[in-house]
Amino acid sequence: MDTPAPFADPHAEIREEVRKLCARFPGEYWRKLDQERGYPTEFVRALTEGGYLGVLIPEEYGGAGLPLSAAAAILETVQAEGCNGAACHAQMYIMGTILRHGTDAQKQTYLPTIAVGELRLQAFGVTEPTSGTDTTSLRTFAKKEGDHYVVNGQKVWTSRAEHSDLMLLLARTTLRDQTAKRTEGLSTFIVDMRASLGKGLTIRPIRTMMNHNSTEVFFDNMIVPAENLVGVEGRGFRYILDGMNAERLLIAAECIGDAKWFLKKASDYARERRVFGRPIGQNQGIQFPLAQAYARMRAAELMVRDGCAKFEAGQTPGEEANMAKMLAAEASWAAGEACIQTHGGFGFAEEYDIERKFRETRLYQVAPISTNLILSYIAEHVLGLPRSY
Ligand SMILES: Cc1cc2nc3c(=O)[nH]c(=O)nc-3n(C[C@H](O)[C@H](O)[C@H](O)COP(=O)(O)OP(=O)(O)OC[C@H]3O[C@@H](n4cnc5c(N)ncnc54)[C@H](O)[C@@H]3O)c2cc1C
Repeated sequence: MDTPAPFADPHAEIREEVRKLCARFPGEYWRKLDQERGYPTEFVRALTEGGYLGVLIPEEYGGAGLPLSAAAAILETVQAEGCNGAACHAQMYIMGTILRHGTDAQKQTYLPTIAVGELRLQAFGVTEPTSGTDTTSLRTFAKKEGDHYVVNGQKVWTSRAEHSDLMLLLARTTLRDQTAKRTEGLSTFIVDMRASLGKGLTIRPIRTMMNHNSTEVFFDNMIVPAENLVGVEGRGFRYILDGMNAERLLIAAECIGDAKWFLKKASDYARERRVFGRPIGQNQGIQFPLAQAYARMRAAELMVRDGCAKFEAGQTPGEEANMAKMLAAEASWAAGEACIQTHGGFGFAEEYDIERKFRETRLYQVAPISTNLILSYIAEHVLGLPRSY
């Protein structure tokens, strides 16, 4: 479903190429993986070989050096074609922390190999069981001992850890009660999981309502070379925040893609399916929820574009990225709900793929940040209301 753009779409060609690639991975492919909780290795390989996962890496490091809106167009198209970018979307943006804050040596070591997919950096270890949304209270601790750090602790919901070579880890390097501000004393590390697995690093898959390859990760005296610290020790929280606007805008773009998939599927069906001697789409009770969801999707789509434009202009689009993520996740959910209702009983049949997409898109009202916390952000940082937590 193409929607009118407020300007000529600079990424129309990329969308077309991604559409062709996605056509090789139809519903049966995703359905089988969903049942087995398998990883879409072939799909990820195809995206990697097409250069799509390295689009945000500058050309000097072997990437395509394209703007954020190009990455958004790729992920939106993947979702709109019925595929699932969650298996690899993080490969696009986690590297941003190394790009912005890494040393020259780290950039030279990692970015070219990430760009061509030889190295997979798509695990992001932030959330912990006891800290949840309150990131600064995380407990995983990295203690400096000579030329390395010794890491102890636990992460939860670390997606794709079993399908990634590297993890970007956020850990405390100074205890919270020994810092002036709670956002201080957190540091970011590149963890080579290939080297650490079985040597202080344990990964356990978590089975979830959708196929997301999420895990819990345990650190037991895991050694991380000091040279793998990204940026300055103690400033890691700031580095992670820097990357969150890009992540939220890209996830929002995926939700727009999901909404387009649901709306096309539902509109096609509503035109064809005849009950009481006429197409069900002739009934306003069927039309209105779809029209409502379309309007919500379009509004969210404009917010994604606004956020990307500000990001590309070098601004910090905290407001737009948060609102885009919230509005797009709500729009995709509304579209999914209307799609199921339009299909009646068939909406629940696996072979229609609707129930699978419905489960998949629900996540984005919770992760990477839940709606309540976005509302709190808007209240505090945009409307100037007192912090509520
Ligand atoms: C499938 C999946 C994949 C994920 N992948 C990753 C990953 O790769 N890496 C990673 O680090 N994390 C990942 N996450 C974690 C995700 O970011 C968190 O689940 C999310 O941030 C919410 O944290 P929580 O689950 O601990 O919920 P909690 O923080 O326990 O919150 C529970 C509920 O309480 C609400 N709440 C909490 N505090 C407040 C408040 N002050 N005001 C109002 N409401 C509040 C929240 O909005 C939420 O609805 C993933 C999660 C899932 C489910």
